[in-house]
Amino acid sequence: MGCQARFLVGGFLLVGALAQAADVPDVAKLLVDVIRINTTNAPGNEDKLAQFLKTKFAPLGFEIDIIQTPQAGKSHFIARLRGNGKKKPVLLAAHSDVVGVEREKWTVEPFDGVIKDGSVYGRGAIDFKGGLAVFAQAILNIAKNKIKLDRDIIFLSEADEEGGLYNTTWLANKAWDKIDCEFSLNEGGWIIKGKDGKTSYVSISTADKGGVSLTLTAKGTSTHSSMPRPDNAIYTLGRALTKLSAYDTKVKLTPETRMFFSTLAEVSPEPMKTTFRDLLSDDPKKVALADKIISEDTLLHAIMRDTIAPVLMNAGFRGNVIPGSAEVTLNFRTIPGTTTEELIDEIKGVVEDPRISIEPASPTTSNVVLTPEQKQQMAAYQKMRASLKPSPLDNELYKALVKHALAVYPTAKVTPYLFQAGTDSSAWRSRGIPVYGIYPYPIDHEDLKRMHGNDERVPIASLETGVDLIYKTLLDVAAALR
Ligand SMILES: [Zn+2]
Repeated sequence: MGCQARFLVGGFLLVGALAQAADVPDVAKLLVDVIRINTTNAPGNEDKLAQFLKTKFAPLGFEIDIIQTPQAGKSHFIARLRGNGKKKPVLLAAHSDVVGVEREKWTVEPFDGVIKDGSVYGRGAIDFKGGLAVFAQAILNIAKNKIKLDRDIIFLSEADEEGGLYNTTWLANKAWDKIDCEFSLNEGGWIIKGKDGKTSYVSISTADKGGVSLTLTAKGTSTHSSMPRPDNAIYTLGRALTKLSAYDTKVKLTPETRMFFSTLAEVSPEPMKTTFRDLLSDDPKKVALADKIISEDTLLHAIMRDTIAPVLMNAGFRGNVIPGSAEVTLNFRTIPGTTTEELIDEIKGVVEDPRISIEPASPTTSNVVLTPEQKQQMAAYQKMRASLKPSPLDNELYKALVKHALAVYPTAKVTPYLFQAGTDSSAWRSRGIPVYGIYPYPIDHEDLKRMHGNDERVPIASLETGVDLIYKTLLDVAAALR
């Protein structure tokens, strides 16, 4: 243990020296610093990051609020740069917690913020400490440049986005006046680089997919393993999973998703140009064939349908007992409008086995046993998310983002987008406040694969263009007119 500790200290100093080097831009230094504050959720420990951010924002005249949650060490950080109050505030929100790592699969220390080959490596580099650093740096630059503002700019570093009970829904109920705004930026769409290294499209999310989890429980006879019976619960569950593995849900295209695929058709060479067009056609045969081809890309597969992923299994407790039950949790990411009841019916139809029961489950954590009250809250939350309307395209913030995305990335097309996962934006969307989502840095598919995976990284040059995009967008929507 002592040896390991010495190694870590050595690594820290080396990377620290690199991060301080003059040619590393401020936004990358900031990202290195925030990656080093380990906010793996659970438990999150987001308060450590909140205290660090205070040292960056407070000296530049921001009003700081650190909202402590009932869980020790978990807080939300809010920094407000005052304008003259002519208009309602603009809010930039970034979650500060990250998912855990499979340390042995990383080639660098995931919480050292290593700079290598022009990228910052570390858990959260893309999701979403990179965005936190870009949003924070752009707003800090507004303050440093003493820009006069017609509206407040609020920076929010959120807790519990990756799971837990004290996310922005909790925060909005607790301290709405601190985060009320006219419109908001959050994580969401992508700035995607093609194989030629050029930015091919910018997708700005105007809606998120919903999330539902269901537990399938197979029942059988619990008995001595020396006398196996045909009704083994593990086999029953296995057969159900085999049926599910061969099944895929049908294509459901929202208006935003249609615009997104139409943009892909514009920026793609043949034969994909025609394939994307076929997906948007009225011909079911063309759609089915296009779906098959396009679905080879897992991201594109995900945004055109409700997705199903088995994520947890549980069966048995010792080596000489056949267990009486076996269960699997399925995580669904749903197109807005899909209800839990519809999913239960759909899965029942696929499994076709009365020995299997299907129940709603906790969406993100296996080790939290929910009280009946919390289960009810969870169901209400999922229902609310399924009913949210997308944010409008004729909005001042959206239009400014599009304008500057086209200027900063001249090779790119810009499109609205249904985000393939959930974010914490529902706290605002449910109150009728438009939220637009972007991971504000160009990345390629190789980088994208590493999100929530191993050796997560973001190019430093991309972080810099991201600050440029967000800074100019903020000037457009918040700077005082002379
Ligand atoms: Zn995220």
